[in-house]
Amino acid sequence: MNKQYRIVTLGSHSALQILKGAHDEGFKTLVIALNKQISFYKRFPFIDEIVGLNAFFEFPEIEKKLLDKNIIVIPHGSFVAYLGMEGNKKMTLPYFGNKKVLDFEFDRVKQGDWLKKAGITTPKEYKNINDVEFPVIIKSFGAAGGKGYFLVNNHKDLVEKIPSFAKASEGKKYIIQQYIVGVPLYIHYFYSPLTKALEIMSMDRRYETNVDALGRIPFDVDPNYVVVGNSPLVLRESMLPEAYEMGEKVVKKSRELINSQGLFGPFCLETIITPDQKFYVIEISARIVAGTNLFIQGSPYSDLTYNEPMSTGRRIAREIKIAIEENKLNLILD
Ligand code: AMP
Ligand code: AMP
Repeated sequence: MNKQYRIVTLGSHSALQILKGAHDEGFKTLVIALNKQISFYKRFPFIDEIVGLNAFFEFPEIEKKLLDKNIIVIPHGSFVAYLGMEGNKKMTLPYFGNKKVLDFEFDRVKQGDWLKKAGITTPKEYKNINDVEFPVIIKSFGAAGGKGYFLVNNHKDLVEKIPSFAKASEGKKYIIQQYIVGVPLYIHYFYSPLTKALEIMSMDRRYETNVDALGRIPFDVDPNYVVVGNSPLVLRESMLPEAYEMGEKVVKKSRELINSQGLFGPFCLETIITPDQKFYVIEISARIVAGTNLFIQGSPYSDLTYNEPMSTGRRIAREIKIAIEENKLNLILD
């Protein structure tokens, strides 16, 4: 039965993990890749079909050709980065996830409101530059992968940097946020609307350039936060119950704030843990995050639940497989 369906994604970010997982669950797989990367994706035997394009904005043209092919699209980090929020919303192919969540994810004010109302600790945000307690980080809306953030440690620098930041962010809104000094821990969750259970699939810490290299040099340099990779991490077991509780709270609140379906499938709470072992959530990603790529063979956490390798990509395919069997695809597709 799965063979009738094709799992499709864009060729980047976590496509390999998603398609391998889909193949392992018995689905046909298709990747939409840049022409220059077709030879790269051909290396992987679990990809059944490759459709090429010159640039990702050509996606709507490709979409028309796929309409009658029993397709299910799995979004990942490149969908918003390359197709934009509107491009995602306009997609007519069956899409795994709830598109209404995109508005709450993209708008940092709505996102902060969601987290706070869920009872999650978030960094302070400052509306008035005269109220700021330093250090702070300035971020624009829709910035991805830590690009274009500024760390500011005093009032003079803040006054100087704001105009250049406003210009660099091309008129987009931005926020001034308390900078939390601690260890960044990204928690990868999966919420199943079929079993109504929340799972922790894995965790990572990001490797960011140049901030993660600054401890190696004896002089001051402005930090950047551009992500280049991820490393695995396991959490102190005594902190694990709180990690589950945080995930459950955001799922529950999303059903009140967004719509009755709320947030489901893979998502990530990006936390910073301070020396008093407090989690500050700096961001929520409402889809598969690239840190899950570490765990194609499963993680210490997925191993506790599954006696087989269970990546987040495979977990998505498993959810789709069960929904097909139970005739409940309407609960997981948008
Ligand atoms: P790419 O496929 O590398 O062009 O990335 C697509 C989007 O996903 C960009 O917004 C990246 O910043 C983000 N991204 C890619 N890889 C990672 C990663 N390992 N961790 C976090 N974000 C990532
Ligand atoms: P984000 O785009 O929100 O995922 O953030 C990218 C990176 O910027 C994070 O992985 C952190 O290293 C850093 N960062 C963002 N916000 C904060 C904050 N409030 N305090 C400390 N570091 C932050």
